[in-house]
Amino acid sequence: MSDTDSHETETPSLRTPIVAVLGHVDHGKTSLLDKIRGSTVIEGEAGAITQHIGATAVPLDIVSKVAGKLVSPDDFDLPGLLFIDTPGHHSFTTLRSRGGALADIAILVVDVNDGFQPQTEEAINILAQSQTPFVVAANKIDTTPGWNPNPDSPIKATYDAQSDRARSMLDQNLYELIGELSDAGFSADLYWRVQNFQNNIGVVPVSAETGEGVPDLLTVLMGLAQRYMREDMEIDVTGPGAGTVLEVKEEKGFGTTLDVVLYDGTVGADETIVVGGKNAPIVTDVRALLKPRPLAEIRTEDRFEKVDSIGAAAGVKIAAPDLDDAMAGAPVRVVRDREIDDVIEEVEAELAEVEVSTAEEG
Ligand code: GDP
Repeated sequence: MSDTDSHETETPSLRTPIVAVLGHVDHGKTSLLDKIRGSTVIEGEAGAITQHIGATAVPLDIVSKVAGKLVSPDDFDLPGLLFIDTPGHHSFTTLRSRGGALADIAILVVDVNDGFQPQTEEAINILAQSQTPFVVAANKIDTTPGWNPNPDSPIKATYDAQSDRARSMLDQNLYELIGELSDAGFSADLYWRVQNFQNNIGVVPVSAETGEGVPDLLTVLMGLAQRYMREDMEIDVTGPGAGTVLEVKEEKGFGTTLDVVLYDGTVGADETIVVGGKNAPIVTDVRALLKPRPLAEIRTEDRFEKVDSIGAAAGVKIAAPDLDDAMAGAPVRVVRDREIDDVIEEVEAELAEVEVSTAEEG
């Protein structure tokens, strides 16, 4: 992309990597997201997780608190992780950014007893095609016969504390899973044996029920992002915002609104935006930018808080006129000091790509 028509000096900064959760139905995607949210809510602490529209942000210091000895904040400069709240590969494939996947990294959840299932195969193909780095969460380790749970423990400690019998049952399941990954063309191993995450998939044994292994999972995600996505996380924080529509929703008092994941730049409460629509791109002016109110402050009629501007990476609700024809998965762009026609063209080009890729999936 060209920067020639940008009048402002770039202010590069690092944004939060966006994380998606994929896997077969019932393998524990939703439970795992809930567990991550639950274990990262540290009450009364400044900088704890924040609920965005459609996403949850876990800052680095909280990742490091949950991960304990596994993560030293000094090893990272990325600000944390932003988890997309809607799991599943349907949302993954419809959510794109500039031709790539909206998610920067992914968790592939596999029930360790059940192993590979049809949607696991689909998900892994999608991840391979979009070249999205991912980690495998070998979930439900607590259902291993004879398992003695150690809630929220790192995997090594709880593994060592099990009986020989429980350990060898789990080992057997894990090796079968590693074999299935290898049959699917991925060299994989237990994550602590993986030296190079670019050539090998790390498998993290976890339980979304007991939280065992969740510290390890957060550690591996943070490490993957830091090592392999860092350059892509360098954005012009003050540039015109770019994002993807998660959902188009009626909202009482606001009419049709867009739930958007912003992955670049900023959007202001009075700015002109271009959004992909059913027939043609929609040009409209933001009427309100909305964030969820913190839980403690929620009153029934008043779920949202208005903000003046918001910067990537973030989930935000945009209220504006004329959004009825907007589409989930479509690009959103802030016009700012650019020519509207150029921005419309950009949105059209990207929409064509989204449509092609959706058609290919059948
Ligand atoms: P999803 O369809 O992939 O989102 O799966 P869910 O998160 O809805 O989980 C499916 C079922 O498995 C639910 O009944 C969960 O309570 C259960 N489950 C998920 N993770 C675990 C786990 O780690 N251990 C146990 N024992 N049950 C789990």
